[in-house]
Amino acid sequence: MSRNLHEFLRKNMEIAINDFGMVTEGDRILVGLSGGADSFSLLHLLSSRKIYVSNNISIIAVHLDLGFDPENQEVMDKLRAHLTLHQFEFHIEKTDIGPLAHSDYNKLNPCFLCSRIRRKRIFELAEKYGCNKIAFGHHKDDIVETLLINIFYGREISTMKPKQDLFGGKYYIIRPLAYLWENMLKKYTAQQQFPVFETKCPTGEVSKRKAVKDILRQLRRDQKHIKENVFNLNYSQTWKTWKN
Ligand code: SF4
Repeated sequence: MSRNLHEFLRKNMEIAINDFGMVTEGDRILVGLSGGADSFSLLHLLSSRKIYVSNNISIIAVHLDLGFDPENQEVMDKLRAHLTLHQFEFHIEKTDIGPLAHSDYNKLNPCFLCSRIRRKRIFELAEKYGCNKIAFGHHKDDIVETLLINIFYGREISTMKPKQDLFGGKYYIIRPLAYLWENMLKKYTAQQQFPVFETKCPTGEVSKRKAVKDILRQLRRDQKHIKENVFNLNYSQTWKTWKN
């Protein structure tokens, strides 16, 4: 059963990779490892490539500790042990991005600053480790939620792209889990017993994403397919036209 789930996820990931040309021969990929089910799944699925994805790629996992919990040494030790056991190349870095984003002068929009500084550091590390691709574990739920967040709060119809070039093609952000729902990744993570952990961010529980998640959860009580409907609409209107 667990092998079946692994194969199902891997195949769907490869279809997304293939559809949008996310991975090519010789790529060096930085995988953003947040500590959640999505990023652990991404790291393991991407490393177990078989069909469409070239074997001639290399991967480095990068975890930025946002500094919300100074007492998390044990969690970091477990993470380090897991990555070592599975022979991943990795970089773990302690930062003060979280407290900085929540400092007095930035109380109104911590997520904006937090994301911005994190991205900047990720690009610096991509440069340092010679990576041309940066893979994030965003899945279908993230894509649906981001679309709604942008409509509700940003007055624009847009969401994450499966593949996005930056700095004139120097780097690409890729989202290999773009065809997978979060609940399947959580199930896979539980089966594989990945050492997941949460970022203890005080904004997590009151963020726009949390508000949208709550709305979707409520709406799904009457209309089970509501997330699929939103994802499929976005897909047919934009993503489909970008496919290889
Ligand atoms: S919820 Fe917290 S960790 Fe996430 S982007 Fe916002 S400030 Fe950063």
